[in-house]
Amino acid sequence: MVDTWTLLIIDDCAADRKIYRRYLLQDPYYSYQILEADCAESGLALCQKIHCDVILLDFCLPDMSGLELFDQLKQEIFDSPITVIMLTGRGDEEVAVQAMKRGAQDYLVKQYLKPDVLQLAVRNAIKQSHLQAQLYKNRERQRLIATTALRIRQSLDLEEILNTAVVEVQQLLKCDRVLVYQFSPDNGGKTVASSMESWETVSSCHHIENLCHEVRGENHHWGCKLAIPQVYETGLSNYLDLLEQFKTKDNLVVPINLSNNGNQEDQLWGLLIAHHSTQQRKWQADEVEILNELSVQLAIAIQQAELLAQTQAALVKAKQLNAFKSQIVATVSHEYRTPLTSILAAASTLLKHGQQFDEFKQQRFLGIIEQKARSMSKLVDNMLMVNRLELDKTKFKPIPLDLLQFFHDLIEQERETVSDRHELIFNSSGNYQNFWGDRGLLQQIFVNLISNAIKYSPQGGSVEFYLIGKESEVIFYIKDEGIGIPMTDQEKLFQAFSRGSNVDTIPGTGLGLAIAKSCVELHKGNISLSSQIGQGTKVTVSLPKQPL
Ligand code: ATP
Ligand code: MG
Repeated sequence: MVDTWTLLIIDDCAADRKIYRRYLLQDPYYSYQILEADCAESGLALCQKIHCDVILLDFCLPDMSGLELFDQLKQEIFDSPITVIMLTGRGDEEVAVQAMKRGAQDYLVKQYLKPDVLQLAVRNAIKQSHLQAQLYKNRERQRLIATTALRIRQSLDLEEILNTAVVEVQQLLKCDRVLVYQFSPDNGGKTVASSMESWETVSSCHHIENLCHEVRGENHHWGCKLAIPQVYETGLSNYLDLLEQFKTKDNLVVPINLSNNGNQEDQLWGLLIAHHSTQQRKWQADEVEILNELSVQLAIAIQQAELLAQTQAALVKAKQLNAFKSQIVATVSHEYRTPLTSILAAASTLLKHGQQFDEFKQQRFLGIIEQKARSMSKLVDNMLMVNRLELDKTKFKPIPLDLLQFFHDLIEQERETVSDRHELIFNSSGNYQNFWGDRGLLQQIFVNLISNAIKYSPQGGSVEFYLIGKESEVIFYIKDEGIGIPMTDQEKLFQAFSRGSNVDTIPGTGLGLAIAKSCVELHKGNISLSSQIGQGTKVTVSLPKQPL
């Protein structure tokens, strides 16, 4: 196929113009649409109206010199580079040199002009200027990509990165909308950023089904073919509806791949989608390349933000653990000293004067030793438990449990230790069959709650325990008539080492509720309390019947 180029001859000599025209129309490779001007002024006017691929410019024109016109053309035509071949007279090397210095592609001496010389010069000038234009375009594209990438990567906050990316890419590609779609581990996914704020209201449906046909369809342009099989296997069932939502097929889609800890296979994080619906759009190869390159930059930014978030989370966790350990040391030294002093005092009294004591008195001292040693041992158990929970080292092993039997045994065990002042009442209703739970963890929860109910009712009273079975969950209430908890203390009591301000001399380390809460969470359940000072406390625990 022969290319057709627009060529302008600016020469005041009509006969010369005719010769050039004839020569050029004989060119076997290129075809030309030839325009003519007989002076600088009309040449300039034509150039302003029509884009000319090449200008044959006579060095001597009636209204100004060819060189002056060349300068003026460069000043007034900015939208595309001007390709000029200067026509000089014999012996006008000086003019030729100056023209070349000003950026002319070539010069030809009029007197020696032959058809093949002119044709070759024009063809070469066109090719050269084409290459230059391509180079310029590439450089400009690289510059735009670099500036956009810089803006995207300026932040380390994921939300900000994604929002900047969609806006920048939209401006760069001049399309209607740019979206970032993120896959989730369950093969679902959602739109996490859109350059159009009202996107949420445009489509309320974020769940994606039905996409495969559309993606395979011809109108849908995948920027990177490599990603397709991978996408199909992962979250693609989701991705399908995305197109439905756009109500357009003019989408350009590229994958956002994160490098996978040195693994060769990248991890498909999501998709970068440029969307155009206002008119039919044929995406150009360089636009696909731009989107691909920006998706790589976006992936780097996402990875950096994720790394930062992980490091920050690890730092917070490390700080919490540190604070927690200091608290353990402080508590151990404080809570151990008092019972230890009592044990030491009772033991040395028995050693020194035991033989003079009657049996009752000896039993009393031994009783003190036993009771204090027990409370120290409980403290150690609680600390170890809470430490394991904090470090996520507790194993959760649910088994099918007969809840009624479990609570009967538990309440009986508690009844043996409780004083006459307390009455333990157990009620149950509903269906609590098919319950799965971890026996050890459930014991931790309810022993702590029942012992609190008893401990914080020093005047005695009833402690009511209700078990209510629902369809998919089981609810437990433990209600006492004790000292209650001040409103301001209630929220923080589930944190380790927190105690109510009204405990007075009632012993405790503030670990029971924290342990209970962690055990409830391992069962994917909830724990909450309501209390009125002086009136009593009600703790509610709800556990799903099938926690896995
Ligand atoms: P321990 O580690 O021995 O259980 P503790 O009972 O002080 O010590 P938690 O069981 O975590 O620790 O309870 C935290 C605090 O919540 C208690 O110190 C108490 O102030 C308050 N509390 C818990 N249950 C009750 C309740 N039934 N009535 C009144 N206050 C309660
Ligand atoms: Mg307690």
